Amino acid sequence: MNAEIIAVGSELLLGQIANTNAKFISSQLSELGINVYFHTVVGDNGSRLQDAIKIAEERADLIIFSGGLGPTKDDLTKETIANHLGLPLVFDHEALTYIEEFFAKYGRTMTENNKKQALVLEGCKVLANHNGMAPGMFLEHNDRIYMLLPGPPKEIEPMFQFEAKPLLAKKVSDDGMIVSHVLRFYGIGEAELEVQVQDILDNQTNPTVAPLASDGEVTLRITAKAQTEEEAWKLIHAKKTEIQAIVGKYQYGVDDDSLTSKTVEMLLHNGLTISAAESLTAGLFQSELAEISGVSGTLVGGVVTYTEEAKVNQLGIDQVLLDQFGVVSSECAGAMAANVRKKFCTDIGIGLTGAAGPDPHDEQPAGTIWIGFAIGDDEPVTRKLELSGMRNTNRLRAVKYACSYLMR
Ligand code: ATP
Ligand code: MG
Repeated sequence: MNAEIIAVGSELLLGQIANTNAKFISSQLSELGINVYFHTVVGDNGSRLQDAIKIAEERADLIIFSGGLGPTKDDLTKETIANHLGLPLVFDHEALTYIEEFFAKYGRTMTENNKKQALVLEGCKVLANHNGMAPGMFLEHNDRIYMLLPGPPKEIEPMFQFEAKPLLAKKVSDDGMIVSHVLRFYGIGEAELEVQVQDILDNQTNPTVAPLASDGEVTLRITAKAQTEEEAWKLIHAKKTEIQAIVGKYQYGVDDDSLTSKTVEMLLHNGLTISAAESLTAGLFQSELAEISGVSGTLVGGVVTYTEEAKVNQLGIDQVLLDQFGVVSSECAGAMAANVRKKFCTDIGIGLTGAAGPDPHDEQPAGTIWIGFAIGDDEPVTRKLELSGMRNTNRLRAVKYACSYLMR
């Protein structure tokens, strides 16, 4: 099933609000394995909306509308669709009662245009609105599904999740089972990953493989369709093996895994303790690890040594070393890692120092980061990152890099 989302509202075109409804619906549809091929935005204008509907009908089996179900004159989504499909609008008694009760409860007089909100397309399934007055609609017509949903996010989101999604899930499962599995990669860019698995991306049918990049990570979502869940998983495993043969060394996890959760898992599994001395990340490394429950079995503690004085006084870094190499240096990162490891008596010590940006620091360009890893009694190992992101992106990347290094 291929979907198109048509968001109706001039305020979207005027840049007054962002089209968050399309984002929400898209992510929900992808969970169902329904492909969204187009997002359309059209103003509150009947003839342009009708043009958009005609285009969508050429390329989608499922057309989802957001907005324009309210009582005012500019709300004309259902009237336009009714007119376009040649279907009458009829009163839905439940919706009408709901609206009448609402007005009675608040002692307000109901106007004719409020009543209009209870009009629905003949033959549709009515989707109840528990957070507003306009009901939604689910209409199967000429081999297509038209779904009409209200504009306000607090109305559309629960309506989609509790009323519409089960209907779509049923449609999808009537066609077979859809199963999705996400592979997570780090240390390889999206473009590079795509080049490496180009053949797989070019020749995909079932399962489909879709790449996505965010926050320095890349994922591949494998989606398979089959008569049973077991068959779908078989298809997924075969495709996964194919992908892993090419880029498996960059894969750190699957589905809801994160770099930090996998790092904590690995440390716990190996019975290793860890501590960190943080400069540019100022506690972010420890904070990210601490989001994972059970981390107290591995994270012993750490220090934030932001200034040169703190590095010398709290961590015992040699002032001579800092004078000679500077704080953004391999030597400083290595010493931070080694000293924090001793201070906290852990198996592993991490040292993070660098110029987060936007300004250079200690004559090093913004984005220059050194990370030290003191593992056991070995000499610390250091790694340099040269990042080009914004300040906080760079700080988070440093944390992610440290995790990915530990997992190697
Ligand atoms: P109402 O009954 O409130 O008039 P409606 O179904 O007629 O609802 P609209 O009038 O189109 O919907 O939009 C109402 C409000 O919902 C907008 O002012 C905006 O705040 C929000 N909204 C509409 N469309 C979107 C969208 N695509 N993404 C996010 N918010 C939206
Ligand atoms: Mg409205």
